[in-house]
Amino acid sequence: MTRPTGDLFADGGETGRLMARLDWSGTPLGPVDGWPQSLRAAVRMVLSSRYPMLLLWGDRFTQLYNDAYSALIGDKHPDALGDDVRVTLAEGWDVLAPLIGEATTTGVASWVPALRLLLARAGYREEAYFSVSHAPARDDEGRTVGVLTVCSEVTDQVVGERRLRLLRDLAVRDGGGTLDVESTCARLVDAIGAHPLDVPFAAIYLADGPLLRRTACVGGEPVAGALPVRLPVSGAHEWGLAAAAAGRTTEVPGVERRLVLPAGPWGDPVGRALALPLPSAEADQPLGVLLVGVSPSRGLDDAYRSFFALLAQQVAVAVRNARTYEEERRRAEALAELDRVKTSFFTNVSHEFRTPLTLMLGPLADALNDHEHPLPAAQRERVDTAWRNATRLLTLVNSLLTFSSLEAGRGHSDAREVDLAGLTAELASVFRAAVERAGLRLEVDCPPLARPVAVDPVNWERIVTNLLSNALKYTFVGRIRVGLGADEEEVRLTVADTGIGIAEEELPRLFERFHRVQGARSRSHEGTGIGLALVRELARLEGGDVRVTSRVGTGTTFTVALPWAAVGRAPGPVAEVDGVGCAVRVAAQEAIGWLADPAQAAASAPAGPPVPAYGAANALRDARILVADDNADMRAYLARLLVGQGCRVRTVGDGRQALEEIHRERPDLVLTDVMMPDIDGFELVRRLRGHADTRGLPVVVLSARAGGDASVEGLDLGADDYVVKPFAATELIARVRAALSGGSRARGRRPGGPDANGSDSPGPAARDSDAGDTDPRGPDAGGRCDATAGAV
Ligand code: ADP
Repeated sequence: MTRPTGDLFADGGETGRLMARLDWSGTPLGPVDGWPQSLRAAVRMVLSSRYPMLLLWGDRFTQLYNDAYSALIGDKHPDALGDDVRVTLAEGWDVLAPLIGEATTTGVASWVPALRLLLARAGYREEAYFSVSHAPARDDEGRTVGVLTVCSEVTDQVVGERRLRLLRDLAVRDGGGTLDVESTCARLVDAIGAHPLDVPFAAIYLADGPLLRRTACVGGEPVAGALPVRLPVSGAHEWGLAAAAAGRTTEVPGVERRLVLPAGPWGDPVGRALALPLPSAEADQPLGVLLVGVSPSRGLDDAYRSFFALLAQQVAVAVRNARTYEEERRRAEALAELDRVKTSFFTNVSHEFRTPLTLMLGPLADALNDHEHPLPAAQRERVDTAWRNATRLLTLVNSLLTFSSLEAGRGHSDAREVDLAGLTAELASVFRAAVERAGLRLEVDCPPLARPVAVDPVNWERIVTNLLSNALKYTFVGRIRVGLGADEEEVRLTVADTGIGIAEEELPRLFERFHRVQGARSRSHEGTGIGLALVRELARLEGGDVRVTSRVGTGTTFTVALPWAAVGRAPGPVAEVDGVGCAVRVAAQEAIGWLADPAQAAASAPAGPPVPAYGAANALRDARILVADDNADMRAYLARLLVGQGCRVRTVGDGRQALEEIHRERPDLVLTDVMMPDIDGFELVRRLRGHADTRGLPVVVLSARAGGDASVEGLDLGADDYVVKPFAATELIARVRAALSGGSRARGRRPGGPDANGSDSPGPAARDSDAGDTDPRGPDAGGRCDATAGAV
């Protein structure tokens, strides 16, 4: 062949070299020498471009293209050079023909951004996408004789975006942790089912002990029929399930032999699947397996594999969330059941308590009120303590009973027309002494209501008492305001304090029974967590409801709203309420007990009546003992016992005050309760043991928490002894004496405790020289053992 062709193909790289070697005389274009100028110019342009270009020339659509284009057609290159495009791209011709036809007939260029073409370029019928422009190519006379195609492959973008959409749909449909596992899996496969081009079929298997259970599957009847429903993990060799269940992603070939499933844009049979572990926290113990079909029209390349891995991860996260949700729901149900059992237990026990309590209260009250045979002061004090605490127990028991009958729907309101403003003001005034003693202001704003109101006065008393006693318990500075008012809609009681406030996240659960805010600073640790639940039930029983607004550090306002529709009454005689009941007085007295006055509490406690001399009383004589307990009666009782033994006693209401007292004047022994507000007994021991100065100070812990764990915790922290309430006076004295003399400490301190030898603790016997610095007052010195108890 004669040659000036070298110039024409010279800049065409590898494809140019192939074109130069090709015998063009065997093609419809004929020898290169005879090519018109226009064709030569077009070929030069194509070869010099780095962008994929294809020139179709003549009515046989002879192909000429560059290196960049050769890469797009895979193994069709180089045979395609000089060949008819209708042969080379036969499988995609139906799509291309109209576009090429349009460019040649109209002479106008076309552009399609993502043209789907079936390409058989890599040994299978591949789904490929191209952004294509077809422009007419003209000969030397200006006639359209061919088409110049400029294209770029966008398969990765198109498929990538599509897969991303599926992952996003999955995230939207996974239930967000609010559905159980079955429903979550059903929704997940539903979302997957909407994307059959990428996932022709899918099944989720979850490990269920030694079994793999198919939880959900998508892909139609043939899939459901072909895939096992439940199988032992060890025998799950089919479908790669066993390997995947052991944590290995496994390719499953030969799917078409077990399942005929046409898929992909051209309905080719699915031939491969992938079994992927659903990752859990433990790599070799997946939650289960995600089995997915591989599209017959896409190669299982790295991008496809990592898409499937993401899919499996997302399914696993959704399953884990659903499990957490199920567990939470089960826990909530179990807790609700526990609450029910607790309530019924309390109810039964409370019934049992009521009779003996009443029988105790009657004679105690008789003894206190017997003016003919008045009790001597010391006895009166003891009987008074017993009466007060029995009354408190009865109030608690009554609250529990009220609560459980309300809960059982047996609540009862004996609504009568009452002077609600007067009653409320009177109830509030019972608390005035306690509030003022706490250094707070009590503001009562209860003007008479314009219209008559009917409520059950006993229920109202409980509502006001509970709210006021809480306000005092949780307020340390400022004021408590009790207001009663009304508008067109309702009557409103507000109890507003300037106390510690309640965190927003606690508010929704505040009125649940037994719910208490953990770690809240309070005047007393005593409480059951049913006060507010009771307030709500009672308010509802009266036809209204209670709500709360609060800000941490600023204060809390409870509002009980009673709609006129429920409590309005035609004017009639106002029922006489015979003064406020016993419950409010007991609550107010109890509140006074919370108000430890450190200055007075620190004073040496006077002795009560003599307590039996427990053997060698001299071991206790003059011993300086600090008693920390948040219950005023208990403080008074302990002080009396110890003073009776010749000890000098100081009392405080919580762990923080105890620390202050200890640093002010070091005692010989600390006797502390565990449950106290602010710093509890265990924390107190921990702090004392953590400090060189107080490491050796003997500490005896008192607690109502029986059981091995609690005492081990106390002793582990370095307490010298642990005494469980209720205790006998003799036992307590013996333990205190032992701790003072160091014997019990050496025994009780567990190995590894902060200070195992205890030798640095001078017991009172070793400190005889201090003994005379303050004489304990004699048994008949009178008065109460601490300031707080004195006012009760
Ligand atoms: P209890 O007082 O026996 O713990 P309640 O049902 O009366 O039970 O109260 C539940 C919880 O609500 C309390 O433990 C406390 O944390 C919180 N609370 C109640 N009233 C107030 C208040 N006025 N200020 C701050 N916290 C409060």
